[in-house]
Amino acid sequence: MNKLLDVVVIGAGPAGLTCAGVLAAKGRSVRVIDKGRGPGGRLSTRRGSSARLDHGCQFLATDDPRGNEIIHGWDEAGVSGRWSPRMPDGMAPPKFAGDHWRIGIPAMNEVVKHLASDLDVEFGFRAASLSRMDDHWVIEQEGEPNSLAASRVVVAIPAPQAIDLLKPVGFSGITELETAQYDPVWSLMLEGDSLPRLEWDALVPEEEPLGLLAVQSSKPGRSASPAWVGLAT
Ligand SMILES: Cc1cc2nc3c(=O)[nH]c(=O)nc-3n(C[C@H](O)[C@H](O)[C@H](O)COP(=O)(O)OP(=O)(O)OC[C@H]3O[C@@H](n4cnc5c(N)ncnc54)[C@H](O)[C@@H]3O)c2cc1C
Repeated sequence: MNKLLDVVVIGAGPAGLTCAGVLAAKGRSVRVIDKGRGPGGRLSTRRGSSARLDHGCQFLATDDPRGNEIIHGWDEAGVSGRWSPRMPDGMAPPKFAGDHWRIGIPAMNEVVKHLASDLDVEFGFRAASLSRMDDHWVIEQEGEPNSLAASRVVVAIPAPQAIDLLKPVGFSGITELETAQYDPVWSLMLEGDSLPRLEWDALVPEEEPLGLLAVQSSKPGRSASPAWVGLAT
């Protein structure tokens, strides 16, 4: 068992890392853990043979002006920027809260790397269970005889996974978590010179099963090699 931390944050996506950054800035000892091998969460990027493909979130957009303030801060830090894809009908991409689409540069997970840069983050640690011991929490690592101890725990992971951790400890908000609905999304990643050159960079089809097709090379900071990501509805 390691020393007692003030806070363990489970989940190194943008939510968990932002929370950890606020707590660390207030002088708390904070460790962030994530089951993944590296930073990204749903803002993940996969390296193909000649291009990087953002296979989760395609662009950052929020209807909340406070969210846009945070995204603009990432622009100033040089890890994000504006993406203005050409649409097939010649229309501009829709704005959210009056703002343009933003993306991580040179890849979507750059934003998450930036958020993690000054924090104590441990990857490859899947929280298997939480338990209460005396005045603190114990977070057990799946498949390892390893655990962390903290006065407080922040669970910043998708609801279906959070239920597994929080139900056994009698979390009072479990009903809200159980009623949250998540739809799985298939991501199709294509790359190579045989892909046709298109007259547009992003397509939002009106009919299922494709919800969005995004030409990765049209995003600023990407390689010019042809690469597309299609997200199912
Ligand atoms: C296909 C797709 C397309 C999207 N498109 C857009 C878009 O165009 N615009 C937009 O604004 N948003 C989009 N989103 C949504 C956006 O990506 C998410 O809202 C955002 O990434 C959520 O951040 P988060 O920190 O809450 O969770 P996540 O990014 O999911 O981070 C949670 C982290 O928790 C970790 N974790 C889970 N369980 C455990 C455990 N037991 N122990 C340790 N670690 C654990 C995971 O590995 C993950 O890294 C999209 C999402 C998807 C999947």
